[in-house]
Amino acid sequence: MRFLAFLIPCAMVAQTMGIEEYEPRSTLVVPASKVERARFPFIDIHNHQRAGAPGQVDGVVKEMDALNMRVMVNLSGGYGDRLRKTVEVFKGRHPTRFAVFANIDFTDLDAPDYPRRAAAQLEKDVQAGAQGLKIFKQFGMDLKDGAGRRIPVDDPRFDAVFETCARLGIPVLIHTAEPKALFDPMDRFNERWLELKLYPRRGRPPETYPRFEELMAEQHRLFARHPKTTFINAHLGWYGNDLGRLGELLDRLPNVQTEISAVIEELGRQPRFARQWFVKYQDRVMFGKDTWRPVEYHTYFRILESADEYFDHDRKYHGIWKVYGLDLPDEVLRKLYYKNALRVIPGLDRSAFPD
Ligand SMILES: [Zn+2]
Repeated sequence: MRFLAFLIPCAMVAQTMGIEEYEPRSTLVVPASKVERARFPFIDIHNHQRAGAPGQVDGVVKEMDALNMRVMVNLSGGYGDRLRKTVEVFKGRHPTRFAVFANIDFTDLDAPDYPRRAAAQLEKDVQAGAQGLKIFKQFGMDLKDGAGRRIPVDDPRFDAVFETCARLGIPVLIHTAEPKALFDPMDRFNERWLELKLYPRRGRPPETYPRFEELMAEQHRLFARHPKTTFINAHLGWYGNDLGRLGELLDRLPNVQTEISAVIEELGRQPRFARQWFVKYQDRVMFGKDTWRPVEYHTYFRILESADEYFDHDRKYHGIWKVYGLDLPDEVLRKLYYKNALRVIPGLDRSAFPD
C-alpha cells in the first residue's frame, strides 16, 4: 500500500483503504486533563505478573508508586511450589505491596477423590500465603473432562473448593465467558467486528463454544449455590454494556462483587448512566486493570475522575467509539479504589490508606 502511494494520488488510496486503517483525528477542541496519578492510593485487584528476573519486582513497585498504586493483586499465583515461589518473590521484598491469588489444580479431575484433593491443595496454598482464588476463563469454555466433554461453570465437582473459600474467608475472582459480541455472528452489525477481523481466534462460534447466555446462567447458578462464598465477577461480568442487568444480579446475590478491568471503554461511552450506577452500587465494585501497561492506567483515571469529553481509549478494537469522563464523587472513588478491596481481601495493610 505504501509503495502504491507513490504512484497513485492520495485520494485514490483513501478510496481503497479498509476500515482497519481508518484512524480519524478529532478536530474537537475542549478542555482536556492529564491524570497520571490516581486521586487516592489504590488497589489493583486484577493483575498478572510472572515471577521473573531479579530486580523485576523492584521495577514494578517503582511503576506502581508513580501511579499511586499501593497494592497489586497478582492473580497468576498457580498452586503448590509455583504458588509458594510467587508469594516469596513478590511478598518477600515488599510484603505489603502485593497480594497473590492461587489457581485451581485441574490434574486428574475425573478421579473420585478430585474434589477433596483440589480443596486440600487450595487450603495448603492459603497457608502458604494466597489471599484469594482466581478462576481463569478456560473454566466453562475450554476445560474438558477425560471424555472430552465441556465442564460447565457450575460443575458440582468444584463445590468443595468454593466451600473451602467460604470457610477460609477468601474471595474467588472469576472470569467467565467473553464479551457477548464475540459469540455473535461476525456480520456488519457486530459491534466487535474490528476485533474479530484483527484477532479471528477470539471468536466464539456455536460449533465450538456454549452460548453466552448459557455461560452466564451457569455462573449465576454457581454464585447462588454458594451464598457464603464471596465472588468477584471479573470484567463487570461482561454486563458493562448492560449495567441495569448487572445491577439486578448484584441485587439478587449479596455475595457477588464486581470489578472494572478491561471494560473501561464500556463505562466511558455511557458517562451519565454509569455514574448513577456507580453511586448506587458503590459498595460492590472494585478497581482492576488486567494487562500491565502502566501508561494505560492514565486513561482509567481520566475516565473515572475527570469530566473530559470525547477522547480516545486504549483499545480501539474493543469499540470504535470515543469515551467521556464519569467525574465520580470522591467517596465513590475511594470505595472503588481501595475501601471495597480492603473489606473483601483478607490480610491487606490498611495503614497506607486514608479513612
Ligand atoms: Zn485477567
